[in-house]
Amino acid sequence: MADDGELIIDLGSDVYFMGEALREARRAARLGEVPVGAVVVREGRIIARAHNQVETLKDATAHAEMLALTQAQNKLGDWRLEGCTLYVTKEPCPMCGGAIVHCRPGRVVFGVGDPKGGAAGGWINLLQTENLNHRCEVASGVLEQESRVLLQAFFQEARRRARERALAAAGRVPEAETGGGCNGGGELEG
Ligand SMILES: [Zn+2]
Repeated sequence: MADDGELIIDLGSDVYFMGEALREARRAARLGEVPVGAVVVREGRIIARAHNQVETLKDATAHAEMLALTQAQNKLGDWRLEGCTLYVTKEPCPMCGGAIVHCRPGRVVFGVGDPKGGAAGGWINLLQTENLNHRCEVASGVLEQESRVLLQAFFQEARRRARERALAAAGRVPEAETGGGCNGGGELEG
């Protein structure tokens, strides 16, 4: 039963560090950014933390993972993130998946999966392909619901604003929010 004990301890720290990534994601939401957050952990300590800043920096590559990886490399003075774990609230996209493999962290943990565009097994799996020269250990579903709710709320609000803008442009007073027509889970890009 010693294995079970180890598993519980490991799971506990995954939840803790994902909680820190979620704090970053909430920060992004407050700034009007798609709410995705990431932290990089080495030897039990957070060495980098970042949230999506695409709108703020006017940079389509400014995903939470990209910013966290760069920060971690600066902190270590090395592009190799061996022995590091990247925690990110949403499954990495192909751009981030490629960058992660280049930086070589040992482990990647994500919250909610992205079956449409995810590059950690959702759509494709860049983190564990034989074609590239590094493979990461991958864990998923840590604080999944929290990450999903945050993203869904963000996209619902974005759709509501878009409807209001369209109505205003057409010279009509916005109608009461009906709440219908939201598919929720299908929009996890960012
Ligand atoms: Zn990305």
